[in-house]
Amino acid sequence: MPERRLPTIVVLATGGTIAGAQAEAATHAYRAGALDVGQLLAAAPALAQLAHIQAEQVTSVGSQNMTHAVWADLARRVEALSRNPSVDGIVVTHGTDTLEETAYFLSLVIRHDKPLVLVGAMRPATAPGADGPANLFHAVALAGRAEAAGRGPLVVMNEDVHYAREVQKVACAGVNAFASPNRGRAAVMRGPAVHFFSRNDSVHSTASEFSLEMLDKAGWPRVEVIHAGVDLGSDLIDFLATRVQGIVLAGVGDGNATDVAMQALARAMANGVAVVRSSRTGSGHVGRNVEVDDDAAGFIAAGELSPQKARILLMLGLSKTQNSTQLQDFFDRY
Ligand code: GLU
Repeated sequence: MPERRLPTIVVLATGGTIAGAQAEAATHAYRAGALDVGQLLAAAPALAQLAHIQAEQVTSVGSQNMTHAVWADLARRVEALSRNPSVDGIVVTHGTDTLEETAYFLSLVIRHDKPLVLVGAMRPATAPGADGPANLFHAVALAGRAEAAGRGPLVVMNEDVHYAREVQKVACAGVNAFASPNRGRAAVMRGPAVHFFSRNDSVHSTASEFSLEMLDKAGWPRVEVIHAGVDLGSDLIDFLATRVQGIVLAGVGDGNATDVAMQALARAMANGVAVVRSSRTGSGHVGRNVEVDDDAAGFIAAGELSPQKARILLMLGLSKTQNSTQLQDFFDRY
């Protein structure tokens, strides 16, 4: 019988709970990123049956400390590996706090169709019932499968597979913390096999018009988020408008905020700061000109994107243009 060829998978480790260690197994406290990638792989010996694995430590951080500089390193490494014909797939281990942001960012700046899977864990590697080894098993299996190609970065957690644009951390604890609230999960893992429910119809990886080079040239435009609530004032917005190129409103409901906040955002817009209205609710679609006259103010509507993903797309959009019609077009397509 011919020997089955195992795929070659490169695991790029960045830290997070999947590499987190507790001082004592009976305590809740732990340090993210305490274990290196060799220790992670050793905890999942079944991986050797799935793939030839090469491991690289890109950084070792809790993902609340992920930076644009690490994003650039990671994207360049993924790009190089995706051009290497001896590599079949790439896995990125990552803290769960900002995993959805890294996945979405990578989907927009690197053009390739090789399987790329991001994975984390909710329980530290030293905790009883640690989910990291199982998640890593699924990630390596997925990255070695032809069905995972051409879909942009995928996120696998708790046996569910998500598209980068859709996935959100929706709970701060528990192994079932990831969901794709608008369009649903992409697939489920069944052991090392995968069953996809849908295609990825958003513009991503293979067709994205954004790039790291463009971002570097534009100096990674600064975009921050204002979180709306009852009686939101205007002073923080006026202050922010002196510091940033873009503001994302995490608005109440359909991307709304108090009249004074909206007036401050309109002033920011008039002074050349791009303003995107998104929703703090966690799902849904923020459309143009519903309760707010976006045409008059020049605001951009975030569509299906969460505030944290709108922040990334606006940063990338501003690396190409400041024209709000063109920026709206990006939000309609990506
Ligand atoms: N806050 C840390 C991080 O995002 C740990 C959380 C986790 O990985 O689940 O890296």
